[in-house]
Amino acid sequence: MREITVFNTMTRQKEIFNPVTPGEAKMYVCGVTPYNHPHIGNARPFVTWDVIRRYLAHVGYKVTYVQNFTDVDDKIINTSNGEGVTWDVIANRYIDSYFEVMDQLGVKHADVYPRVSTHIDDIVAMIAKLIENGYAYELDGDVYYSVEKFEHYGELSGRTLDDMEAGARIEVDGRKKNPMDFALWKSVKPGEPSWESPWGPGRPGWHIECSAMSNKYLGEEFDFHGGGSDLIFPHHENEIAQSEGCSGHHPAVRYWLHNGFITINQEKMSKSLNNFFLVKDVLQHYSPDALRYFLLSTHYRSPLDFSDERLEEANKALERFTTAIQNVLYLETCPAGQCEEAETLLSKAKEYEEEFEAAMSDDFNTALATSSMFGLAKEINIYYQSVVSRDGVVCQEALAEVKRIFSFMTEVIGILEKTWEGQTGANAEEYDELMQVILAVRQDAREQKQWGIADCIRDRLAEIGITIEDSPQGARWKKREI
Ligand SMILES: [Zn+2]
Repeated sequence: MREITVFNTMTRQKEIFNPVTPGEAKMYVCGVTPYNHPHIGNARPFVTWDVIRRYLAHVGYKVTYVQNFTDVDDKIINTSNGEGVTWDVIANRYIDSYFEVMDQLGVKHADVYPRVSTHIDDIVAMIAKLIENGYAYELDGDVYYSVEKFEHYGELSGRTLDDMEAGARIEVDGRKKNPMDFALWKSVKPGEPSWESPWGPGRPGWHIECSAMSNKYLGEEFDFHGGGSDLIFPHHENEIAQSEGCSGHHPAVRYWLHNGFITINQEKMSKSLNNFFLVKDVLQHYSPDALRYFLLSTHYRSPLDFSDERLEEANKALERFTTAIQNVLYLETCPAGQCEEAETLLSKAKEYEEEFEAAMSDDFNTALATSSMFGLAKEINIYYQSVVSRDGVVCQEALAEVKRIFSFMTEVIGILEKTWEGQTGANAEEYDELMQVILAVRQDAREQKQWGIADCIRDRLAEIGITIEDSPQGARWKKREI
């Protein structure tokens, strides 16, 4: 199996991936709190992790992917009270919205999507175990984690307890043993959903769910834990304290991977700045492939600036890849024969494949990997030009291998799936039939030397993004991906 290196937030360096179970990759990614439609800041980690799991599967790992929904949370409760509906109405509405946009973005489904509300028993059992192990204490129906008891507290974020206290905006609660102690269980308040527990009715604190769910579905030690870099402290720091305090096993997670944040026109994304871009709104203007490609065009750990210019760049990149795919599909229909250029194309394709895999194996560097796609797309287009400018004969064996390589690249990045199926959108078959009629009319006009009509057809089609290419084998049409 190809060696993969990953940047581990815990050790602050790249490490060779060595799975807990040989041949398997078990990953947990913190999911959304469903109180609003997903914004592009939400989309980045899920698209990133989708590519990581695709690549790990390609390398040969059996991937298990778990991603939670925080369906019990202050923001959901506030939204539900504001709308006069129950909390689960809000949670279900925005979980549906999550799947709708992530499906559009080509994000494959996780193996399990655990929700807080259906895992209260697991959470209560974990809290009880933490009390039993001496890491947690009860206070008037609340339960707190005692951070001083956990020797590794602060290792992930690289802070000491003194740093945390100095830097944190924490509520003053004199009852706690240490100001940094965090809630595992909160006693019920009016207007909030609650569940029974040994400490009275209440609901879980935020952090405990991820420990309970990762432990339940992936075990005491698993391979990857992902999320945005804003989750490193306190959420992931607390997860480690809970998981390891409960199981006694260190480490709970072998590799911590965190994606950088998104800025919008160089400003940090925030609701107050009114630059809170919802995925569904962005998709009114750009295709899902364009947004997905944009999210992957920068390495996942780097900050990413969202702007129309960058989305336009993504569109242009997709156009180039689309042309290359359409050319491959066209060349497949050409007569088979020997041609020298095919050997050159194939050897270059193999070089680009190696480059692509080397980039992806080096901490999933999609930014570098996509440059190999550009290189291969260019070579495919050069080959296409040479074929149509001579006899139209294609070395089909070499072409099949080039197709395998290029389609493997687009599959890992997760774009242009429909283009490979020869589709340009809905009703692709009818669309093509219609275009064949138009091309036949234009051909008639040309044969009758009615150049004005022929040119008019070509120009009007160009205006709506359809280009016509004439070759000795006849005319072809191409639609720009919008
Ligand atoms: Zn989490």
